[in-house]
Amino acid sequence: MIAALAGGVGGAKLADGLARLLGDKLSVIVNTGDDFEHLGLAISPDLDTVTYTLAGIANPETGWGVAGESWNALDQVAKLGGPGWFRLGDKDIALHLVRSQRLRRGENLTAVTADICARLGIAARILPMTDDSVHTLVDTAEGPLAFQDYFVARRCEIPVTGFRFAGIADAKPSPAVVSVLNDRTLDAVMICPSNPFVSVDPILGLPGLRDLLVQRTCPLLAVSPIIGGTAVKGPAAKMMRELGLDVSATSVAGHYRGLIDGLVIDTADAGLAGTIEAMGIKTLVTPTLMKTAEDRTVLAQSCLDFAAALRR
Ligand code: GDP
Ligand code: CA
Repeated sequence: MIAALAGGVGGAKLADGLARLLGDKLSVIVNTGDDFEHLGLAISPDLDTVTYTLAGIANPETGWGVAGESWNALDQVAKLGGPGWFRLGDKDIALHLVRSQRLRRGENLTAVTADICARLGIAARILPMTDDSVHTLVDTAEGPLAFQDYFVARRCEIPVTGFRFAGIADAKPSPAVVSVLNDRTLDAVMICPSNPFVSVDPILGLPGLRDLLVQRTCPLLAVSPIIGGTAVKGPAAKMMRELGLDVSATSVAGHYRGLIDGLVIDTADAGLAGTIEAMGIKTLVTPTLMKTAEDRTVLAQSCLDFAAALRR
C-alpha cells in the first residue's frame, strides 16, 4: 500500500505512474485548497486533474481538463454576459454538474469523488484531503488574493510574499485520509513533484496531518518539482525566488526538512546531492522529467525501489 500526496499537473503525472504499477494499492491524497465556487459549480481543479489523468482522458496539451473537449457551453456563457475567464469544457462541465448537485444534496466530496472515479474506471483511490472548505490565499503587495484570481485571472504575475489557507484551522483531514495514513500496512508515503507552497503545504497544514506523518512506520519521500533551477511548469520557481529562496532542489529539501526521509532529484541536479544528504535527507538521483507515459512508470518504479531501500 502506497499513499501519495499530490496537487494538480505535476502530482497527477507521478500518481499516474504509480497507479499503472499499483492499481488499487494506491491512495492519492489531493489538495483541495484551490477549490472554489464558480457559475454555481463546485470547482476542484487538482482533484479533477488527478481524476482525468488516472482515467486516461486528460488533455495532454494543457495537463488539465478533458482531451478532445468542445467549448459550446462556455462560449454561450460569454455570449450571455457571463464570466469566461475560468475555462470549463463541455465534458468537464458535466462532471461539475453531477458533483455540484450531489454536494448540494448533502453528500461529502470524498464520497462523490469515489463514485466518479469508479464510473471512470479508476482503480486507485483518489481522496480529497478534506471534506471541509479550505481556501488558499496568496499574499501580495496588493493584499491577499484568492488562489484562482492570482493563478488564472492575474496569471501569477504579481509577486508573492506568502501564503495562507483560510479555514484550515477548523478543517479536518477526511476520515479516509486519516485511515490511509494510520494504516500499519502502508509501505511508503510519497510527496509528488507538486508545488510545495500551494499544493503540498495545504495538505500538510491540516490539523493533525503532520502528526500522522511523524508517527508513520514507513518511509516518506518526496520528488523535487524543481529541475536544474527551474520549475517544469507553473509558478513554483517564481514563488521561491520572490520568497528569497534559492530556486533549487536544495530549497525543496529545506522545505520538507524534518519530515521526509528521502528526496528524488533530477540527474541535472546531481551536484546538489551532497548538500541535501548533509541535511539528513537521503537522495536518489534519476531522470525526473515526465514527458511520456513510460517516463511516469519508470520514475514511479524508481520511487518504489528508493522507498524499499529506505525501509531497510
Ligand atoms: P498544479 O496544481 O497544476 O500546479 O500542479 P502541481 O502542484 O501538482 O505541480 C506543479 C509542479 O509540478 C511544478 O512545480 C512543476 O515544476 C512540477 N512538474 C510538472 N511536471 C513535472 C515533471 O515531469 N517532473 C518533475 N520533477 N516536476 C514536474
Ligand atoms: Ca493546483
